[in-house]
Amino acid sequence: MSVLVLGGAGYIGSHAVYQLVEQGEKVVIIDNLETGHKEAIHPKVTFYEGDIRKLDFLRTVFEKESIDAVMHFAANSLVGESMERPLKYFDNNVYGTQVLLEAMVEAGVKHIIFSSTAATYGEPKSVPITETMPTNPTSTYGETKLIMEKMMKWTEKAHGIKFVSLRYFNVAGAKDTSEIGEDHRPETHLVPIILQTALGQRSHITIFGDDYDTNDGTCIRDYVHVDDLAHAHLLALDYLRKGGDSNIFNLGSNEGFSVKEMIETAREVTGKEIPVQIGKRRPGDPSILIASSEKAKNVLGWNPTRTSVMQIIQDAWNWHSSHPQGYGKEG
Ligand code: UDP
Repeated sequence: MSVLVLGGAGYIGSHAVYQLVEQGEKVVIIDNLETGHKEAIHPKVTFYEGDIRKLDFLRTVFEKESIDAVMHFAANSLVGESMERPLKYFDNNVYGTQVLLEAMVEAGVKHIIFSSTAATYGEPKSVPITETMPTNPTSTYGETKLIMEKMMKWTEKAHGIKFVSLRYFNVAGAKDTSEIGEDHRPETHLVPIILQTALGQRSHITIFGDDYDTNDGTCIRDYVHVDDLAHAHLLALDYLRKGGDSNIFNLGSNEGFSVKEMIETAREVTGKEIPVQIGKRRPGDPSILIASSEKAKNVLGWNPTRTSVMQIIQDAWNWHSSHPQGYGKEG
């Protein structure tokens, strides 16, 4: 049997695929390469280029391949863009997942592991955030992911498809071998932007607001290493295959770092100056997000080993400095 990875050419999907292959799983990837990179696709997988919103295309893949589980990374995931183009997010994320679930029902595939997000919580009343806290997204992106989770909940009741939803906090870092890493076009994420500034590809980094109610006025986030995050997907796969019930888990480090602290750590790691300017707040950004990941540790046995801000930035720096043009395409 194979694991079907939707979005396996993307940043997090590609890291999960490498681990699945290393664990001896057969992997099939679907990716429309809108944001993913051909170069990030593991050479030992079967790759179908196409869009999850096309039911006929998905049908063909499910008919040709023998699939027992799906990992669903294929989505748009930018808070800022989602506020400017909400309907793009409803179409790709919500409608795309609807079509995927239709194809899974038809094909009789019963397991799905789903990329969700801390953005489902919105501005939390207290931190660390546990899975039972209220969900009040402050962005279209977070709202679409919450709707996708609810879609899976109701689909399970009718059709018995079990799901694990993994609510990621801030993901960064790269594979320790630097074979694959983070490359978004355009780049909007904090760690790559800091490191592109360290490389001299940007004149400065703009901090989005220094008037938040935090120690230094900048937003606080909880950063998790992409390879620890990817490993949680393999544990979730094992959990579902062993008959585990549908479930939701936060994935983070249980620690928060401000934007300014991240820049300071990057200065230490890279030895570069990294000039900064203060800009306006970015719409949709909550001030503080910190996870409680106790549930993932207790139920899935998740044990992050590379999740420290120092290690995350070091691994990301190894990738960026050895791949200054990312996967090499023009931006
Ligand atoms: N951020 C920033 N400048 C940038 C990019 C991000 O100040 O150029 C801040 C952003 O406001 C947020 C944090 O860094 O508080 C992490 O943002 P990112 O886009 O990496 O992840 P998100 O929190 O949106 O998932």
